[in-house]
Order: sequence, then structure tokens, then C-alpha cells
Amino acid sequence: MKYRNFPMVPRVIFGNGSFAQLGEIIMPKRKNSEAPFIFLIDAVFEGKALVTEIPLLFNDQIVFISADEEPKTQQVDALVKLIKETYNELPSGIIGIGGGTLLDLAKAVAIMLTNSGSSSEYQGWDLVKKPAIYHVGIPTISGTGAEVSRTTVLMGPEKKLGINSDFTPFDQVVLDPDLTLGVPKEQWFYTGMDCYIHCIESLNGTFLNAFSQSYGEKALELCHEVYLNDISMAESRDKLMMASWHGGMSIAYSQVGVAHAMSYGLSYLLGVKHGIGNCLVFQHLEEFYPDGVKVFKQMQKKHQIQLPTGICANLSDEQFDLMINVSFGLVPLWENALGANWQEIMTYDRLLALFRKI
Ligand code: NAD
Ligand code: ZN
Repeated sequence: MKYRNFPMVPRVIFGNGSFAQLGEIIMPKRKNSEAPFIFLIDAVFEGKALVTEIPLLFNDQIVFISADEEPKTQQVDALVKLIKETYNELPSGIIGIGGGTLLDLAKAVAIMLTNSGSSSEYQGWDLVKKPAIYHVGIPTISGTGAEVSRTTVLMGPEKKLGINSDFTPFDQVVLDPDLTLGVPKEQWFYTGMDCYIHCIESLNGTFLNAFSQSYGEKALELCHEVYLNDISMAESRDKLMMASWHGGMSIAYSQVGVAHAMSYGLSYLLGVKHGIGNCLVFQHLEEFYPDGVKVFKQMQKKHQIQLPTGICANLSDEQFDLMINVSFGLVPLWENALGANWQEIMTYDRLLALFRKI
């Protein structure tokens, strides 16, 4: 048995208002006045108070980016090109502020500033050759675990797949639960359920080990407190932020499962976003995760979340075929969920029947 040796985020600051310390955190990382910090910020914050608190110096730059669509390899390549054309030297660092979309963009841009070619060439496992530039992740919505993970999930010309590498994790993460104050209720549920589903898939997977279990159980407990108990909003924000962190840590040393494999297919074909896509799939997975789905429905009921229906109602056979192939391509997820002989358990027709329910 050869064990994998993973890097972790080396520095993290946690607490309400900790964002105000960003200036002093990045100061020692400033190479010189010509090497800027580039702040990639979710466009939802344009004109908001958060922007006035960004510690801009010298020729630092803010780039607002919409999170309406999930990040694409072309978008990463265009940002890298723009930065290289604008500045004579490499930036001091990249700072991503937003949800999983902005965090993944920041990681990918930091990697591609030092690695040649297109980001699509690095989608996969351990293909990155050179260390990324310094990069900082600042989540403004909790659940994906992107702040702690070793991947940056990108939609490429041929596939939706992460750049999984030792150079992907952030050098610094700022966890300030107050930044999540404005998140709309539906989105709070969908992205939070991403974390819940990470826990269920990790804890019920064949790859489970004590490392993953310890983080997964803690994250699951926190999700239950946030979505089933009546705790204060402030406590709920703190706890969901830590649930996301632990959920991300849990899958670092195991894998996700059926919901994620299917959700990737849905997202690839229809552009359905990750959080809601997972929920759309997961509600139909009681055969695989009976307890997890039961509790999911309790949470959904408590927070009066109506999921859209008929998403796959009018798809052609070719479209189903594409979705199923993308989904089956995620072999480690199926192995984790169903074991080495997963292909005997999850047949084409069985997967088709599940997609038809959505
Ligand atoms: P997101 O970043 O797409 O944001 C969802 C919505 O919430 C957007 O409309 C955004 O503008 C809004 N929003 C975010 N913060 C807000 C705030 N404080 N106030 C008001 N609105 C706010 O959502 P997400 O669910 O965090 O991320 C999904 C992405 O994460 C997908 O692209 C998925 O592939 C990726 N992901 C990555 C990993 C990883 O390990 N790298 C893991 C899971 C998911
Ligand atoms: Zn996920």
C-alpha cells in the first residue's frame, strides 16, 4: 500500500471581522511596488462596503467577475493573458473573494501564471509542473470546501474536471463568517447542501478511513445543527463555515460519490450549477444513501426549499447519452460509492432511469 502525501492550507485566520486584517497579512508577501496583488471578486459585491475595505496599494487591481456561470478554462486563460499583458512582472499574489466559483478561478489563475499553455491541459491529477504564485482564498458563502481543497474545478472544452495538484491549495485562507451575511436563502441551502452531501458520500464510501471519518462526522454534526436546530443566525454562519472546511478535509482523503458523479453530468450538459445540481440528484438517491436522503428532505421541508422539476423532461437520447458518459467518466467517484465492481451495480439503464426522474 502506497499512501498519498497531501499538502494542506498552511495558514488560516478565523473570526468575525478578520477580513480587516488582510492588509497586514499580505504585506510581507508584496515583492515590490511593481508586483501587484490582483483581487478577483464576485461581482455581487460591486459597489458594496466590502470593496472599500480591500487593502489596495501601489498598482493593485480589482477584477469583478460574475458567478452566474461556473468557471471555464477559457476564462482562466483570458485572465492570465490580461495580467501578463498589463504588468511587466508576475503579481505578488492572487486573492479570490467569493464562493466556490471565485475561489476556483483564483486558484487556477495563480497556477497558470507560472505554467505554460492552456489551463485545459492541466485538468486531471498531478499535471501541474511548477508552483503557483502566492494565492489567498476568502469565502463569502459556505459549503463547497473549495477554500481547503486540492482542486479547482473548471469547465473545459472537453470535460468538467479539476486541476488536482499539490500546488492548487491556497497559501492563506481568511474565514470571516460575517462575509456570508448577504447570501440569499435558496443559495445558502444549495451551497450548504454541497457540504452535507460531501459528508454523506464520504462517510458512506468504500474509501472511508479514520482521517476522513473524523472530519466528515464533525462536518455532518455541524450541518445538522445549522439546518435542523434553531440556533442564532450568527452561530449558524460560524458553524456552516467550519462545516464547509471539515467537509472539504473529509473528501481530501476519500472521495465523493453518486450525487457528484451525476451532478457533473447535469452541469456539463445543461450548465446546472453545482449546489442545486447536487440537490436535484441527491433527492432521488435513497437506494444508495437512505438515511442521508431522509434527513435531506427534513432540512428541505424545514427551510421550505422547492426544487425545480422536469429538468430532464425534454432531453433527447443523445443528450442523456452524453450526460451518462460524462458521469461514468468519473471512475474514482463510482468506485468510492459502490466498490470495485461498480459497473455491475450501476448499469447504463439504471443511471438513465435516475436521470429521467430529475
Ligand atoms: P458560487 O460561487 O457559484 O456562488 C453562488 C451565488 O452566490 C452567486 O450568485 C454569488 O454571486 C452568490 N454569493 C456568494 N457570496 C455571496 C454573498 N456573501 N452575498 C450574496 N451573494 C453571494 O457558489 P458556490 O456554491 O460556493 O460554488 C460553486 C462552484 O464551486 C462550482 O463551480 C463548483 O464546481 C465549485 N466547487 C469547487 C470545489 C473545490 O473543491 N474546488 C468543491 C465543490 C464545488
Ligand atoms: Zn461538491
